[in-house]
Amino acid sequence: MSREDYEVIIGLEVHAELSTKTKIFCSCPTKFGADPNTQTCPICMAMPGTLPVLNERVVEYAVKAGLATNCEISQDSKNDRKNYFYPDLPKAYQISQFDKPLCEHGYVEIETKDGEKKKIRLTRIHIEEDAGKLNHDEFGGGSLVDLNRAGVPLIEIVSEPDIRSSEETEKYLRKLKSILEYIEVSDCKMQEGSLRADVNVSVRKKGDTKLGTRTEMKNMNSFRSITRAIEYEIDRQIDIIEDGGVIEQETLRWDDVSGKTFSMRDKEDAQDYRYFPDPDLVAIQLSDEYIQNIKDTLPELPESRKQRYLEEYKLSEKDANLITSSKYLSDLFEGAIKVCHNPKAVNNWIISDISRILNETEQEPIEIPFDSNQLGKLVILIDKGTISSSIGKKVLVELFENPRDPEEIIKEKGWIQISDEGAIQEVVSKILEANPQSIADYKAGKDKALGFLVGQAMKETKGKANPQMLNKMFLEELNK
Ligand code: ADP
Ligand code: MG
Ligand code: ZN
Repeated sequence: MSREDYEVIIGLEVHAELSTKTKIFCSCPTKFGADPNTQTCPICMAMPGTLPVLNERVVEYAVKAGLATNCEISQDSKNDRKNYFYPDLPKAYQISQFDKPLCEHGYVEIETKDGEKKKIRLTRIHIEEDAGKLNHDEFGGGSLVDLNRAGVPLIEIVSEPDIRSSEETEKYLRKLKSILEYIEVSDCKMQEGSLRADVNVSVRKKGDTKLGTRTEMKNMNSFRSITRAIEYEIDRQIDIIEDGGVIEQETLRWDDVSGKTFSMRDKEDAQDYRYFPDPDLVAIQLSDEYIQNIKDTLPELPESRKQRYLEEYKLSEKDANLITSSKYLSDLFEGAIKVCHNPKAVNNWIISDISRILNETEQEPIEIPFDSNQLGKLVILIDKGTISSSIGKKVLVELFENPRDPEEIIKEKGWIQISDEGAIQEVVSKILEANPQSIADYKAGKDKALGFLVGQAMKETKGKANPQMLNKMFLEELNK
């Protein structure tokens, strides 16, 4: 049997760090990148005798996430202790939610490769605290713990095993990420660990109704590694089954360098977390009014922005999908249109040159260094004929490297388009003189010669000559 005879089953547990100013049970700041242990207090360091107080914002953000993903919100919820020992967890338990999560039974819609809409069901969304971070081998041989992250609020979003390929996994995760960005509950910076996924994978023979045994790859935080890891794991599992073996339920670590998964610990189901309600925290009870208030303040979500772009700006489905996949791109798009009133041009910049640069430099839209005002002004400069679109591309590169007013850039670089008739005429004469063969070719009916001459003139002026004027004047001369 081959790979085609198997069905792939995937379910994700996604952790998103919430962008609240303070931690979940104390008032320490949550900012990323501070010096180790400078954002800690007796509560998040787990000193005996300290008591947690639940940050109300965390509940609000989790409810927002639940509503934006079509969940039912539980009006009666609570916090539980999940007991386990690990050096980055000073209390030796994590405060999480066990049997009464805040949100349940939601879904996120994706588009499959056949263009069909598919719902990935969410089992639950619950709140919990993040653990600290171990730094290995920084000083001599030992490990040091940084507790700045301990107590940073998380939501865990658990999907049903509804995903059927690595491609669908990426689509689901991208959709989830964009929803969380739109409702502004998490910055979703994967490289900083603000969004990370535990990926559960199993396979079964097509037609089987029982799920196969799954393996779980923990803490994945890049789309590329997730795809590679899933593909590797599918092949590994099928090979084992084809050889007559059985899949062990285990936790795996994906190694990007070797491109393989390694076993971390097995039989995870055997781990007993001894959950019990945290006696230091009261139950979370939410009124209808509280939930309704949050519902009323939900911003426009990607799907509805997309519909608007299709109707208002006549974007293609593909372009609208790309732009609305990220709130940052979408805000950039709308902001630039307000400045230049040319949606077509802004759309083109975003889907072509800006996306290409992001891809080449492996950056996320949130890392775009210039703002919508600067992009809008670039479009205006081209529309007014102050610069050609090929100079525009050079301005864009400058905007990525050292963002400033495009007008300033072209002045500084001497990139202003030559539209002066006398100057253009001079260039045209010079190029014609140097290329008698092209003149002959043109007269002999080879239209391509014109393109060559214009190209030479562009080269001569370092791309600054107005191309329409060049064309016109060359034609006038050649047809004389
Ligand atoms: P745990 O919390 O022990 O990891 P759960 O039962 O909560 O286990 O499942 C975690 C995730 O694993 C869920 O996203 C679920 O969809 C997924 N999952 C469960 N069974 C399978 C399976 N057989 N194959 C793939 N994914 C699965
Ligand atoms: Mg799990
Ligand atoms: Zn603290």
